[in-house]
Amino acid sequence: MADEKTRPRYKLYSQREKEILTKTIKLNEEVGELCNDVLSVLKLQRKSKLEKFEKRNFYEEFADVIITTIQLANSAGVDIERAIGDKLKKIEKRYLKDHIKS
Ligand SMILES: [Mg+2]
Repeated sequence: MADEKTRPRYKLYSQREKEILTKTIKLNEEVGELCNDVLSVLKLQRKSKLEKFEKRNFYEEFADVIITTIQLANSAGVDIERAIGDKLKKIEKRYLKDHIKS
């Protein structure tokens, strides 16, 4: 199946690029763990997983996702506080435009 035509052609050169890729993969892992816990809270997991589920872990997974996101932003040179502030302003502006007629 996989051959020369489908082989990935990316190459990481710097330590920074490797760090960004590693943290991106870690973020995906943490999002997956949070998704699993959401399924457990909703009792949509199979019985064996529900038996192992601890609600405290659910809270911690939210923290893991946020912490890993902050770490990724730092590695990528993104000012996360500014990014969130700017995005919230944009959402508020859109909300006001859609809900308040002048
Ligand atoms: Mg986790």
